[in-house]
Amino acid sequence: MKIIDGKAVSLRIKDEIKEKTAKLSESGIIPTLAVIIVGNDPASRVYVNNKKKACEYVGFNSVEYALDESVSRNELLGLIDRLNADSGVDGILCQLPLPKHIDENAVMNAISYEKDVDAFNPINVGRIMSGDFGMLPCTPAGIMELIASTGESVCGKRAVVIGRSNIVGKPTAMLLLNADATVTVCHSKTKNLKDICRQADILIAAVGKAGFVTADMVKEGATVIDVGINRGKDGKLRGDVDFEGVAGKAGYITPVPGGCGPMTIAMLMKNTYNAALRRQNTETCG
Ligand code: NAP
Repeated sequence: MKIIDGKAVSLRIKDEIKEKTAKLSESGIIPTLAVIIVGNDPASRVYVNNKKKACEYVGFNSVEYALDESVSRNELLGLIDRLNADSGVDGILCQLPLPKHIDENAVMNAISYEKDVDAFNPINVGRIMSGDFGMLPCTPAGIMELIASTGESVCGKRAVVIGRSNIVGKPTAMLLLNADATVTVCHSKTKNLKDICRQADILIAAVGKAGFVTADMVKEGATVIDVGINRGKDGKLRGDVDFEGVAGKAGYITPVPGGCGPMTIAMLMKNTYNAALRRQNTETCG
């Protein structure tokens, strides 16, 4: 069994972006990410701080807009309109979850698809369906990078994704399909889940339940990607995979923490860099 080191893979990607950003800066363009955070959710604060730190590392500007929990939908949409129109802003990220009185879909729809570095806007979601991968959702894109880092081909493999959320399960299934895997998507109503998982050469766990995937659900030698982030009563993070049990059976496995988490941020940097590159092309070509 080999552990896929998400920290190392993400660092390699961030270092590549850092180098390219230094070159881009010579043309006067510094990639700029606007980060919106609403309220005082401690987990959101940690995520936002990590994203800002990553921006600093690769040489981007990040501008934070910290809004009060009581902000109205219209005020938030107004800010997004201004950021959409600001030619100095390449990417806009609105940290989820939002307070209950604000419709998250309306906010995702409001972010211009060209600046939608989380790729949650329906235009970017739809583009994935047609194989246009201009802006990929960060966690699924990170999962594909982790699989690629093993050097094993995805083509013709049997892939099983547990979870069908719009931000992880569904887009991950589309990316695996595009890479020529034969893909099965499982969810809470799936029958014979264990049997289906046992057929997987590549098993993706995006369930949100600590230790959900046990060794008896895993094929010998499978690549197991654990997307789950579950905080236990002891404060420790655990994945959706029973790492100790599954590690003895998997060919490759991601740890939690240190697997998918760092990759999500690295892919956010990649999307922001690519958005800045499009700005440069627009400015150059008029
Ligand atoms: P989600 O929206 O809650 O979706 C969970 C999925 O798991 C649903 O499709 C659900 O099925 C399915 N499920 C629940 N119980 C199941 C069962 N007993 N058998 C089979 N499927 C079952 O969660 P998410 O947003 O996709 O996130 C999943 C996990 O990944 C969470 O722990 C989250 O914190 C983590 N995450 C990590 C990152 C990262 O950067 N590493 C990013 C995003 C999310 P139904 O659709 O039928 O309800």
